[in-house]
Amino acid sequence: MARFIFITGGVVSSLGKGLASAALGALLQARGFTVRLRKLDPYLNIDPGTMSPYQHGEVYVTDDGAETDLDLGHYERFTGVPSRKTDSVTTGQIYWKVLTRERRGDYLGATVQVIPHVTEAIKEFVRDDIGDEDFVICEIGGTVGDIEGLPFLEAIRQLGNELGRERSLFIHLTLVPYIASAGELKTKPTQHSVKELLSVGIQPDMLVCRSEQPIGLDARRKIAQFCNIREQAVIQALDVDTIYAVPRSYHEEGLDGEVCRHFALNDAPDPDLSTWDRVVSRVRQPDGEVTIGVVGKYTSLLDSYKSLAEALIHGGIANNVRVKVNWLDAEIFERDDAATYLEDVHGILIPGGFGERGAEGKIAAARFAREHTVPYFGICFGMQMAVIEAARTLAGLEDAGSTEFGPSDDPIVGLLTEWTRAGGVERRNLDSEKGGTMRLGAYPAVLSASSKVSRIYGTTEISERHRHRYEVNVNYREVLERSGMHFSGMSPDGELPEIVESTSHPWYIGVQFHPELKSKPYDPHPLFTSFIQAAVEQSRLM
Ligand code: GLN
Repeated sequence: MARFIFITGGVVSSLGKGLASAALGALLQARGFTVRLRKLDPYLNIDPGTMSPYQHGEVYVTDDGAETDLDLGHYERFTGVPSRKTDSVTTGQIYWKVLTRERRGDYLGATVQVIPHVTEAIKEFVRDDIGDEDFVICEIGGTVGDIEGLPFLEAIRQLGNELGRERSLFIHLTLVPYIASAGELKTKPTQHSVKELLSVGIQPDMLVCRSEQPIGLDARRKIAQFCNIREQAVIQALDVDTIYAVPRSYHEEGLDGEVCRHFALNDAPDPDLSTWDRVVSRVRQPDGEVTIGVVGKYTSLLDSYKSLAEALIHGGIANNVRVKVNWLDAEIFERDDAATYLEDVHGILIPGGFGERGAEGKIAAARFAREHTVPYFGICFGMQMAVIEAARTLAGLEDAGSTEFGPSDDPIVGLLTEWTRAGGVERRNLDSEKGGTMRLGAYPAVLSASSKVSRIYGTTEISERHRHRYEVNVNYREVLERSGMHFSGMSPDGELPEIVESTSHPWYIGVQFHPELKSKPYDPHPLFTSFIQAAVEQSRLM
């Protein structure tokens, strides 16, 4: 029967709860256990799909088509366990469920209340869709003390009682700040944060304390005493130079050992961390460096491109080079000559994006890459912009555009109105609701045997994750292929272009899906491996 580990956070946000959860998952796996990770987000949106990337960072898409928090990306990258819809819930979804039940009459006669109805729905989520996993790690979003978080804390408090200590564990992540003027680490914020948790009835079993400086024995003892926790269960979590060093670092501080002790798993083998050690040594000792220009829109908040940034690092790991990323705001290409910013890069990548702002800049960057034979990787929006560029410049369709930006004489990219999913047909039109209605999740694609991408993948059948409302219009296939843009990957019914590649350029590939979502540090995605390899070759030419 699964054991449940609840991870809360206190003092400040952005402490890396998602990473800590993911690293703990990896450590338990390295000891031979099976894990599942899930996220409970207290905000009211049904999912982050309708939020701006500036607000919330990347939207991580699962195989089964859920739009989720970027922490699920960390979970997958660290454990390799594909996340599912059932691994992510928000207050919005919980209330939706409760209110649907209320209307249906499930609660007839009762006053519907946060306790017990909302908390029951949260508990159902935590225990839902679990197989024979040894551990389920549940991260509670936000910071203890947030109004929205209260029903979640109440629900996990109840669960702790119901499951008993043998099957539940509460870990609280806090910050131990260093005050330079006093030359001291301060434990008071941690004490207050634990008090706040205690006020809702949760006594944490373990503390993970983020700190810039080593936490001395005295400070640790003080925290243990004031927070009513065993000294060995106060784990220091120092900053590390690469996130992939977190599993080893937390192991050395005793995190997984304490977890096993709590659950009386005294015979658990020591973790085998060789995979992580290999990844870290590759990251720390690269043999060379390449620079990739990423031309996007949300470049001021790098969390918007979390999986992409990681996948580029993975491509570097595969090629034993460091990947330096120049994050470039697409709008600068609408004012300045592309060469000013792209002259020295070894590869150009245009990631996913929405809306017209910056689109012409991206088209200009795609043109630069094509004309100067710089390796080009277009992802989703980046593929669409590359196709528009080719249509305008190579096929002579000067008015080629996307209907995402309004009516166009040559709608090379148009609204996706109909597609098949698992045998059924999905339909959309301009009046469709915006939330959760894109073409989402894993879809298969068939690659043409002679293509570059089939060589890169080593197969002609792939499955990749999607998140888009528009598509390259297949009616333009012939004219575009004549001008050198090969449609090398298609949906199995031949209706939806999935990949385009230039036949005259050494590495010019656009994909309608998001390969970055499936890349792992120990198993880099073949497209990123190949793209970085092309960048290495480019660097030798320059
Ligand atoms: N805005 C484009 C679409 O909806 C691209 C989406 C994306 O890049 N994820 O099709």
